[in-house]
Amino acid sequence: MKIGVVGAGPAGLICAWQLAEAGHSVTILDQSKELGAQGSGVLIQPVGLAVLDYLGVRTQVEECGQRVKRIRGYAGFTKTRKVIDANYSLLNREFDYALGINRSELWKLLFDKVKASGVTVQHGVHVASLCYHSTSRVELIGDDQQGVGIFDLIIDASGANSKLREFSEGIGQQYLLDSGSLWASVKMIDETVFDPQEMLVFTGDKNQGLGLMPTGRIMAGGCKTFTLFLTIDCRKDLPWKTVSFIDWRNELIAKWPSLKNLLVQIQSPDQLYLARFKHHTMSKPYGDRIVYVGDAAHCSSPQLGQGINMSLIDALVLCQSLAHKDHVNDALKLYAKGRKNHVLAYQTLAKLLTPFYHSRDAVAIFVRDQYFYLVFKMNLFKRFTAAILSGNIFWPLKRVTAKIVSNPNHCCPKNRMHKKGL
Ligand SMILES: Cc1cc2nc3c(=O)[nH]c(=O)nc-3n(C[C@H](O)[C@H](O)[C@H](O)COP(=O)(O)OP(=O)(O)OC[C@H]3O[C@@H](n4cnc5c(N)ncnc54)[C@H](O)[C@@H]3O)c2cc1C
Repeated sequence: MKIGVVGAGPAGLICAWQLAEAGHSVTILDQSKELGAQGSGVLIQPVGLAVLDYLGVRTQVEECGQRVKRIRGYAGFTKTRKVIDANYSLLNREFDYALGINRSELWKLLFDKVKASGVTVQHGVHVASLCYHSTSRVELIGDDQQGVGIFDLIIDASGANSKLREFSEGIGQQYLLDSGSLWASVKMIDETVFDPQEMLVFTGDKNQGLGLMPTGRIMAGGCKTFTLFLTIDCRKDLPWKTVSFIDWRNELIAKWPSLKNLLVQIQSPDQLYLARFKHHTMSKPYGDRIVYVGDAAHCSSPQLGQGINMSLIDALVLCQSLAHKDHVNDALKLYAKGRKNHVLAYQTLAKLLTPFYHSRDAVAIFVRDQYFYLVFKMNLFKRFTAAILSGNIFWPLKRVTAKIVSNPNHCCPKNRMHKKGL
């Protein structure tokens, strides 16, 4: 098949790479003039690591990242009252950790695979729409209303702001959340201050909080890097529009004095990357000769840290579904079925938890600050939270691999996930 993949994020890169390896003619189109990943760190949860393991790149990815064994969150500005505690070490599985990594490192690694597999890469192409030509072909249309390629199948991996969602009947409800985050990469100068295997979150004032995610070394022998993220109220102007940038940063240092060495590294707004949170779930992640993966199909506020995992799982499940079925429509149905329960479970959980971690809802904040610490005293709950964060509710990989393996005609490269309990 001739396949057009819109978007060179993690979901698009994996689809392009895997489908080219399976013998399809694949073109990936991205709007960026210069290809690469924006932003700073991401946390790949155990289920995402299992996908990378299946694809044979886990070791390479791990070399660029940092294993995270625990996530602890505290109410307010100090480490007095815990409101999150997820201890991956309590999971009795091979993947008893998450991996913090700079987005650009992951991107480079996947892009090398894409290039090596013979995918055609077009960048600086903003896809605005599509046009159906005949019963079997579909054309992507650019910003200037000109065609940018004719394909048998389109994979929309263009992220949360996809322009192509209207080509499915199951577009779903979409809305912008009030909160967003500012992200920056910082170097850990004194490694004794923070545990590099632990991610820290402070909810701050009315959920205007701060977090610190370990993301590995910049280069062999270099300093450890962390991603510092600040949750902000996106309904207001950016904080340094009302006070000077340095005054705003000094206010943060006054609130979190223990983070002074990190915060002083942020010297201008150019070092900060802003992402506003959105929530949407497509009820039918495919249409006529088009299928949606990653943030294009579903996205939410990031308290469960599932964005990148969902993209990795979507890509793998889609590629396997296409390999398993002779007819594209059957493959797209199989993909949608394989992803349904898992996506629904995490999107619902994210929605339920948003008031507690990313809103100004006074009641939710009161309940969290006064009562959550009681449950996090129990190891059982720390384990339960880690199990949810690991991304493995409804075993999104086991279901698909089981289907593929049960087909004697399908040559499955590896069947390691069953052994790992994933
Ligand atoms: C700063 C930041 C930190 C994050 N941290 C985490 C985390 O810790 N854990 C986690 O799981 N998730 C995290 N996320 C979310 C995660 O990064 C996303 O869920 C994930 O990147 C989605 O992957 P994707 O491939 O679906 O889309 P994206 O990564 O958004 O990629 C979409 C691609 O499509 C291109 N594109 C968009 N529109 C068009 C168009 N019209 N035409 C052509 N090309 C187009 C874009 O240039 C981009 O390259 C974070 C997100 C951000 C922004």
